[in-house]
Amino acid sequence: KNTRTPLMAGNWKMNLDHLAGTHLVQKLAWGLEDKRHDFGAVEVAILPPFTDLRSVQTLVDGDKLKLVYGAQDLSQHDEGAYTGEISGAFLAKLGCTYACVGHSERRQYHGETDEIVRAKVEAAYRHGLTPILCVGEPLEVRQAGEHVEHCVAQVRAAVAGLTPEQASTLVVAYEPVWAIGTGEVATPADAQEVCAAVRVALADAFEQELADKVRVLYGGSVKPGNVAEIMAGDDVDGALVGGASLVADDFIGICTYQ
Ligand code: PEP
Repeated sequence: KNTRTPLMAGNWKMNLDHLAGTHLVQKLAWGLEDKRHDFGAVEVAILPPFTDLRSVQTLVDGDKLKLVYGAQDLSQHDEGAYTGEISGAFLAKLGCTYACVGHSERRQYHGETDEIVRAKVEAAYRHGLTPILCVGEPLEVRQAGEHVEHCVAQVRAAVAGLTPEQASTLVVAYEPVWAIGTGEVATPADAQEVCAAVRVALADAFEQELADKVRVLYGGSVKPGNVAEIMAGDDVDGALVGGASLVADDFIGICTYQ
């Protein structure tokens, strides 16, 4: 665990237009400086709506803010007649580091299958973006005790076909669907169980040394008050944060949990 830099990623979802977004970015940057946040110790990323990215880029470049940013989704296609889609090439041009792929809201409301998720992971790599691959079980799967198998199958399907070089930079986020936006947080033991199983699956698909480099995040109702106990898990390398990433003080509290 000590060799992996923790990543705290704020998923804004469909919140904050570019004016509100730039305001929050400035508050985050100032707040983290004020707290003398050690930017080497924890990587801080934000995932704003597409329409905010250009404004965020201008702020980050202009002020040398030590934040990185990315998109909440991308197209599996590179260009062409795909009305309304956003190419990874466009995101890379805007300085994005990350692209979130396979968030449960995309799987649930936009029909994203494991096959589409795999194509999007590959599209991210084609354009030099690091995918944050989201996996997680719905409530009935957990109640049936099949959560580990469910998440491992989602990881396996998404990484099939990646080169070891690509896979070694992957970020995986374990987000139990029943814990997203519900205030219902998984226990630290629940988070550790699945994050560890994801790492074992990556070791099986590639090799242990590679799996040891991959950051596996937990997501689902992470708040300043519960982040430290979740981060205590040996295989938990950070958090994907929804609601609490919209409030500067909360997200700063999460990023400075140590
Ligand atoms: C998310 O959607 O990625 C998420 C973790 O949301 P929340 O923190 O609001 O549960």
